[in-house]
This record gives sequence, C-alpha cells and structure tokens, in this order.
Amino acid sequence: MNEHDSERIAGLLMADGLTPTEDLDQAGVVVFNTCAIRENAENRLYGNLGHLKPLKDRNPALRIVVAGCLAQKDQGAIQARAPWVDVVVGTHALPQLLDLLATAERDGPQMDVSESTEVFPSALPAARHDDFRAWVSIAPGCDNACTFCIVPLVRGPQRSRAIGDIVAEVQGLARRGVIEITLLGQNVNTYGRDVTVPGSSSRPLFADLLRVVGAIEGIRRVRFTSPHPHDFTPDVIDAMAETSSVCEHIHFPLQSGSDRVLKAMQRSYRRDRYLGWLERIRAAIPGIAVSTDIIVGFPTETEDDFQATLDVVERAGFDSAYTFQYSPRPGTRAAGFVEQVPKEVVQERFDRLLVLQERISLDRARAQVGHAFEVLVEGAGKRGPSVQARTRTNRIVHVPDELDPGTFAWTRITGAAAHYLTGELVPAPDVITV
Ligand code: SF4
Repeated sequence: MNEHDSERIAGLLMADGLTPTEDLDQAGVVVFNTCAIRENAENRLYGNLGHLKPLKDRNPALRIVVAGCLAQKDQGAIQARAPWVDVVVGTHALPQLLDLLATAERDGPQMDVSESTEVFPSALPAARHDDFRAWVSIAPGCDNACTFCIVPLVRGPQRSRAIGDIVAEVQGLARRGVIEITLLGQNVNTYGRDVTVPGSSSRPLFADLLRVVGAIEGIRRVRFTSPHPHDFTPDVIDAMAETSSVCEHIHFPLQSGSDRVLKAMQRSYRRDRYLGWLERIRAAIPGIAVSTDIIVGFPTETEDDFQATLDVVERAGFDSAYTFQYSPRPGTRAAGFVEQVPKEVVQERFDRLLVLQERISLDRARAQVGHAFEVLVEGAGKRGPSVQARTRTNRIVHVPDELDPGTFAWTRITGAAAHYLTGELVPAPDVITV
C-alpha cells in the first residue's frame, strides 16, 4: 500500500513539473513516505531527517515532506522533533500534497493528518517503476483489530472503491500496456462490505471482482494481497481456479501456529481452519505457491506456542515466509501486554524458524527443477548479461539472456536456491502447464 502511495506522490510531483533525481544536492523536494509497522522504520526516519538537517541549513529552499503511516501516527510530534520538516501529510491527505507544499513555501511548516479519505489515492496521477505492471488499490483501511497491528490506527476503517471505478482504472491501465495488476487491500476478502453494486442493493464480492478484472482484455496476470484467513470464502477459490489470468500464488498470513496466541492476537481463525483452507486451495489450484507472514515472540508466547508455529510451518510447506520479530507499537493493545518475551528468546526462536523455513523453501524450489514455466521479464539481472523474471507462482527466475522488461518467455528451470531459481529459455509448449 505504501509503494502504491509512493507512486502517487511521485506522480503528483512530476505532474507539477518536478523531475526525479538520485542526487540530494540537486533536490528541491525530498519526500519520506513512511511505514509504521515496525519500530525500526520509525528509527530510520528520524535518523534520515537528522542527516538532512545540514542540507536544509545550507539550502533553506529545500522542502522536506514526511508522508505515510508514521506521519498519520506521530502527527505534530514529527515537526516538534525535526522542526526543519516543511510538510507532514497523513495517509488520507495525499491529494492535498501540492497545496501543502505551496502553503509551506509562503507560510512555513504545514500538516494535514485528516482522518478520512475524500479522494482515493488511485485517482491521482502515478509515476510507476514499470510500465507493464501496476498496483490497484481496492479497499484501503481495515475493520479488524489485530492486537499487534497499527494499520487500523493509521489507515482508518476499510473503504471499498466502487467496482466500476476499479474496472475503469484497470481498463485504462490495459490500454496503456499494463499486463499485470496486483489488487491491494488490507483484507481483500471483505472488499465490498461497505458499498453496493450500482442499481441494486447487493454488495460486490471479492470473487466477483477477481472474475471481472481478470476478464479485462490485455490483462494477462492478476495478483492480490492480502486475504485474511478468517474472512476467506470458497467462492474466492472458485474464482481463482476459473479465471485464467489469476496467478497461482496466494499470500496467506498465518502470524502464529498457536491457537492461544492467535486468540491473544485477536486473529479469529485457528490453526486447523487455516490448514483446512490451504488444503482446499491446493486441491482446487494444483501447483499454487503459498507465502505467509509469521510473527515470532508475540507477548505471552511460550516455547510450546512457538513449537506449534513450527509444526504448522512444517505442515503447510510454505514456499516463502516473511518472518518478523514482534515489535511493540505504541497505540496497539499488545504493546500494553505485561508478558513481553525477552529479546534474546525472540531472537533464538526467530533463528530456529528461519532455519526451518529456509529448508522448506529450498525443498520447494528444488522441486521446480526440470519443469518449464512461463515467466514475465522484470528487468536486468545482477550478474552478467541476464534478466530477472517471475513465474505466475511468484518465483524469481534468473535467465542468462537479454530480454526486454515486460516480455513473456518460457524457461526450463535448471537450478534452485531458497529464494530464486535459474532457468534457460525454451520454446513455448503446445500444452501449457503451471
Ligand atoms: S487484518 Fe489485522 S494485521 Fe491485517 S491490517 Fe487489519 S488489523 Fe492489521
């Protein structure tokens, strides 16, 4: 979601006549689009702002902007701590960025941390990294209250976009040559709860959206992130299986394998239900890859709880996992829990989880060797003349050839590491397998 907003921030500034630069000394405006999920991101912001202070002293015309979740969370505290920041713009106020900059130029430091979204950031101009793929926001905000999570505080309640607006955006993207889209929502499964289909009282479902968007001409790949295991429904599996452009990959956040910890996290599913969903998804969509998020060291987590997580990780056989050490975020309920797990215990558990997941990721990657897949070229590789490409299952493949970004090719997998594959180009098969 932050990357999506960054594209909009860059798009707004470029539409106003600015050009991007890598050279800080050349910059007229510097924007930090911030994340508040972990404490580390917060520390980095203030470190970076400190580094900019001498530059601002030398060049008072430089405008410094702090945007995003930390801006929404810390509000006036940012300019109190770093008075050389010109604009603080929260997650709902992006459309006001240019006005805020203009006012700051005239009247000094400005802040807009309004609490509700009037204009979806998707309606703003975007400067994208690639011209062949795009993020499409469908429902920013979240109505859940996971006790570790700051998102509801900084992004507000869920607000679904009208299905017609989403379809119009994707059609426009397709006309401009975009072939892959990723639908974005904090909880895509509850998309549509708060809107109705025009001319009817019924509510659009995420499965409907997948089918409609997946049928748009020119869109060859549809991805989405993230579903919530509690709100997941069988019709989404059917839509994924029956819509050929929907890729065979799902990011399915587990967070913990312990029912007791899930309850403390206020995640309203349990391990058996989670594993049951994975079984159904894999049965309906053969070859699908599964990634997940796991938090280690949530307050009160015992060794038995952690063993339960390792057990689910082993059973689930995730292709990849984003693993996090729990970090208390002020403003969340879990930050107030008295039984925080000591740092060294969290680190030791985290290391064990990594070893297990690396082994599983490597096993699953090795199982791809010898098979052929369609890949989408993303850009130049890092070593020698090569490209980095991606399978429909979201696996990175390094191919020792020179191909333009945004082109499709077929590769046979020749090597595997835990986080990437290597492959060689092969002709497209007559019968497509995934
Ligand atoms: S579902 Fe939970 S973890 Fe995800 S954004 Fe909402 S509150 Fe945060």
